[in-house]
Amino acid sequence: MPQSNLTDRFGRTVNYVRLSVTDRCDFRCVYCMAEDMTFLPRQQVLTLEEIARVARNFVALGTEKIRLTGGEPLVRKDILELVKEVGTYGLRDFAMTTNGSQLSTMAEPLRKAGMHRLNISLDSLDAEKFRNITRTGNLNRVLDGIDAAREAGFRGIKLNTVVMKGRNDEEIPELIEFARKKQVDISFIEEMPLGEISEHDRGLALCTSDEVQSIIRRHHELVPATEDSGGPARYFRMPDSPIRVGFISPHSHNFCSTCNRVRVTVEGRLLLCLGNEHSVDLRRVLRGNPVTDDKLRQTIINAMDLKPERHHFSSEGDVQILRFMNMTGG
Ligand code: SAM
Ligand code: SF4
Repeated sequence: MPQSNLTDRFGRTVNYVRLSVTDRCDFRCVYCMAEDMTFLPRQQVLTLEEIARVARNFVALGTEKIRLTGGEPLVRKDILELVKEVGTYGLRDFAMTTNGSQLSTMAEPLRKAGMHRLNISLDSLDAEKFRNITRTGNLNRVLDGIDAAREAGFRGIKLNTVVMKGRNDEEIPELIEFARKKQVDISFIEEMPLGEISEHDRGLALCTSDEVQSIIRRHHELVPATEDSGGPARYFRMPDSPIRVGFISPHSHNFCSTCNRVRVTVEGRLLLCLGNEHSVDLRRVLRGNPVTDDKLRQTIINAMDLKPERHHFSSEGDVQILRFMNMTGG
């Protein structure tokens, strides 16, 4: 594997790429989407071959870690073909973020196709609250999916919970007990101001990682984990369990100085930062004439100069980034 050739103006090395494979989803989570969404027309969406080409060229530039995300990656037709292809690139880490709704049938094929790890979103263990947050989701299907994932033998499984005050913050102890029982890691995420939503006030709903931690500490000791996660989460362990508890805190603990990631949207927009609009259009290069890998790599290398130093999310609930998370590739 080559050393990463991707370094930005602030000396950060980029070796982690999140590829969005669709903007579509079978859920409509209240923090992620508006209820009534318009999705992209097909011709604006990268083909699976184009996505694989982007992945291959990032790997040639030293990328060691790829995460497929969306939208919901498992609603993309023939997604297993892409997983199989990227699975041959020799990545150190190949992961997917999913809402889990299709894992009861897809977990094993994904594992067999070469996926190493899964992040599964789970915001509530109460069927009604789960439906209320996801608008369309069925909790039991997701719970079955989590079990199927555990049986499939992934290297790692992590639950992701976006915590919202008055909505699911009271469930934090139960979610921790669930993760301990299932022996899977869990991360608690502060809601980010991505896309304009009217369903709730993001500022009022913000539950900071420090608040979540103090709730957990009423029941369990949390000891900072020593290993570097290579991601934005800060991890802790409990003395009597093998699982890790992570906190992703874009508001309260800025993680930009160690950022090693970029994202590619399903339209082929290379996003240099989750919380800024700096981007480069890779689809234009992918559909140019002639299309060459050299040109694609040079475009990616040049784009690193655009990576901003940090994001500036505020907790006032004001919208700063107009694209929704499903467009961003969370
Ligand atoms: N559909 C998949 C899922 O839900 O896991 C993958 C895509 S989703 C956009 C990726 C992650 O982003 C999920 O864990 C979701 O909870 C999180 N997310 C979505 N919108 C968010 C927001 N506004 N703030 C913080 N996290 C968000
Ligand atoms: Fe879909 Fe994931 Fe967004 Fe929920 S968070 S609406 S599951 S893309």
